[in-house]
Amino acid sequence: MQPKSGIWTFSDLGDNSLILGDMHVHSRFSADSQAELSDICRAAIECGLKYIAITEHYDLNPNDISYQYFDYSAYSRAIDDLRAEFGSDLTILKGIEFGEPHLYPDELEKVRQLDFDVILGSVHFIGPDFVGERYLRERWTPEEIFTKYFDEVLQTVESDGFDVLAHLDFPKRYLKQTTLYHDTVDHIIKRLVDRGIGLEINTSPLRKGMSDTSPDFEVVQRYIQAGGRRITVGSDAHHPSEIGTGFEELSQFLSSLPEHSVGIYQKHQFIPIAF
Ligand SMILES: [Zn+2]
Ligand SMILES: [Zn+2]
Repeated sequence: MQPKSGIWTFSDLGDNSLILGDMHVHSRFSADSQAELSDICRAAIECGLKYIAITEHYDLNPNDISYQYFDYSAYSRAIDDLRAEFGSDLTILKGIEFGEPHLYPDELEKVRQLDFDVILGSVHFIGPDFVGERYLRERWTPEEIFTKYFDEVLQTVESDGFDVLAHLDFPKRYLKQTTLYHDTVDHIIKRLVDRGIGLEINTSPLRKGMSDTSPDFEVVQRYIQAGGRRITVGSDAHHPSEIGTGFEELSQFLSSLPEHSVGIYQKHQFIPIAF
């Protein structure tokens, strides 16, 4: 089955689903997932998705569990096999979640030369420390953690070479509270828009007992108000059962956004999904 106009629209699909692509998914090619790629694809098709990006961790911080773990050649061969098996039902995009891009510009440039559809830029660390470490919550207040984190993110959005900023307010997962607003967030948004970088709506907090996405709708609306028109949606699944989770809760919000502002990335190009 192929879309009529080269890109799926909701009229092609009927009312089944408002979100056609999960742009942030991990498999066993990430150090923190055991998921088989074929199981991921089956789950995506069952959810009614038409696109999926397999965005494995790529980390250069020696303190990271994923440090030097990713094997590009094995991953690429696996994706080729997957496309042969599932390609008629699902467009499988090659992605990578690159940790702290601002710290590793040369490595990022090398990754950019490889065959990826999308590079997510992610910040998981404040200096040498993983954001989720309990000792950080003992050392600093939530406000201090957010402030330091957003300073790192601001440096990341000043660096070149990635397509989409992932989970803008990542500490929320561990602090279990919503974003504390800082002028820095507006500054981050402005730089995203100026530089044409996409903004991800990451639904994983919805699986962790929180009521809003990462970032939450207010931040997404501020991105839109600033002129941003490149929004992707990702579950950050590490298990097939997590594919597409939280997407239903998002659909009403997404339908309130300007036309052509939500989509996917293919060969580093943003492709809006019409609805
Ligand atoms: Zn991440
Ligand atoms: Zn991830």
